[in-house]
Amino acid sequence: MIEVRNLTKRYGPHVAVDDISFQVTKGEVVGFLGPNGAGKSTTMNILTGYLSATVGDVYVDGTNILEEPEAVKRRMGYLPESPPIYGEMTVREYLRFVCRIKKVPKREVKDRIEQGLHRVGIAEVYNRLVGNLSKGYRQRVGLAQALMGNPDILVLDEPTAGLDPKQIIEIRDLIRSLGADYTVILSSHILPEVSEICPRVMIINDGRIVADGDPATLAGDLFDASQVVITAVADEAKARDAVSGLRGISRIEILPAGESGTTEMLIESEKDRDLRRDIFAAFSAKQVPLIGLRVKNATLEEIFLELTSGVKEADVTEVDT
Ligand code: ADP
Ligand code: MG
Repeated sequence: MIEVRNLTKRYGPHVAVDDISFQVTKGEVVGFLGPNGAGKSTTMNILTGYLSATVGDVYVDGTNILEEPEAVKRRMGYLPESPPIYGEMTVREYLRFVCRIKKVPKREVKDRIEQGLHRVGIAEVYNRLVGNLSKGYRQRVGLAQALMGNPDILVLDEPTAGLDPKQIIEIRDLIRSLGADYTVILSSHILPEVSEICPRVMIINDGRIVADGDPATLAGDLFDASQVVITAVADEAKARDAVSGLRGISRIEILPAGESGTTEMLIESEKDRDLRRDIFAAFSAKQVPLIGLRVKNATLEEIFLELTSGVKEADVTEVDT
């Protein structure tokens, strides 16, 4: 349904989005996960036709968005990261205004607004000023706005940013329910958010897609069996000595020991290289009792940190898009 091909966006010499390609199928709920400055908003602004790309193409059902932005924009509902706030309008006035901009046929406006209000749960604040609403309600109004054009794709940029914990849960539930009826692309720098809502996660770092898949597979695939935690009845020096002759170890870390007289050690090897047998044999050869040996499965959190480490915050400047 959506196809992004070799998309690159440069701001002067700075590469914000670096040759990314991906596809989204109809009905999917996809999360862009990445730290601040990763290129999520830039990608979304291009996807929705609000920003031009330096290189690359975006197709929605075969129509090139850069060539026919109006046709494609009609199919998308977009909640930008910092939507313009029309604080002096009531919710009703604002949604009518949005319908006008989106050229909703006059006779459909009433129904469209009615349905939108109920879908996002803001019927009770219909006549209040947008500026007087809580941030949670304002975000719902933003979602209602995105629905006004009767889109089949929703693009939501950091939809829970700035909300309190209760509002965050409510907005997440709402997005989950929208996911049943729309193709959704949402972005977040918060991992649990994306992994809770999205069956598919794309981790974006430094303008590139560094992982793409369902959260469980990402966690399993990338690190499975590459980390083994052992407990040996020995001091640290003896434990280190036992594995000193082993090939294939990329890193060793001493962990806080659970029992006195023992050493807990994390042994890391290349991906897909299972060292458990070799480790067992090595301790056995040195006659150091091994009382624990287990594979440590990485969580998505660890993967995220690993894949996005090395981001230089100093390089990241906040610029309005
Ligand atoms: P994210 O949404 O993941 O936080 P952005 O897409 O907003 O990331 O930004 C990606 C990179 O592009 C950042 O380094 C940011 O500073 C830079 N950037 C974004 N918009 C502009 C702009 N209008 N001018 C110059 N640099 C920009
Ligand atoms: Mg952003």
